[in-house]
Amino acid sequence: MAHDDTDISPSVRNAMARVPRAEFIPQRYRWEADADRPVPIGEGQTISQPRIVATMTELAGVGPGDRVLEIGTGSGYQAAVLAEMGAEVYSVEVLPSLAARARDVLERLGYGDRVHLRVGDGRKGWPEQAPFDAIVVTAAPERLPDELPEQLADGGRLVIPIGELDQMLELIVRKGDTFQRRALLPVRFVPLVATRS
Ligand code: SAH
Repeated sequence: MAHDDTDISPSVRNAMARVPRAEFIPQRYRWEADADRPVPIGEGQTISQPRIVATMTELAGVGPGDRVLEIGTGSGYQAAVLAEMGAEVYSVEVLPSLAARARDVLERLGYGDRVHLRVGDGRKGWPEQAPFDAIVVTAAPERLPDELPEQLADGGRLVIPIGELDQMLELIVRKGDTFQRRALLPVRFVPLVATRS
């Protein structure tokens, strides 16, 4: 499977076109908002490259009314794109300062009622809100956290980068109690950090 722009469907393109990426980027980096590059958002974290956001949204197969879990809220941009796809979004961020900033911008842009944020360790998912039709993980664990596939609905899709320096974006699809797992393309994400909480 190739992953150039031609793989991105009109619904994903349109959803991304409706979200003003610059609003999710700190003032001093805004001039980079239109480039297809990751951009710093503070705390050593980055907002992902738009083409990766598009690919992950596409792979998640999100449709109107779907319940979607995102791990790694960061700037809130990917969460807004998922909301524009019609999803009810649950997003977990480990750093309180980033979560607070994401909450502000999401509310200001009118996504407050469709994006639910929580500060905590996303490796555990959000069991109280499971099952999810899709789970999108935007930071890379060294190996797959057990709790995440378990929180998928039947037919649900988990999109997750896995690895340390050499990461692969993987797609895991739940069929009943079995999980189909495929490594799709090499990627570079910040690490999904382990916390004690
Ligand atoms: N999706 C974001 C980009 C995320 S960058 C966007 O659209 O802007 C990855 C984020 O994952 C960072 O904000 C980082 O703090 C967060 N993160 C890292 N480890 C985490 C963990 N264990 N639980 C939740 N979030 C985590």
